[in-house]
Amino acid sequence: MPITDPEKLQIAIRHTFNVMICRKCGARNPPGAEKCRRCRSKNLRWKRYRK
Ligand SMILES: [Zn+2]
Repeated sequence: MPITDPEKLQIAIRHTFNVMICRKCGARNPPGAEKCRRCRSKNLRWKRYRK
């Protein structure tokens, strides 16, 4: 379902991509997290918005 409102889209993008993803279990973690909250792995990556 596409979002048509550009302001809402920006907010949605910010919320969606301002997280860190665990490479091990795929859990979402808060930005700046050093360890995964689910499996405690340090193998985290930023979820980046790519055009
Ligand atoms: Zn994890």
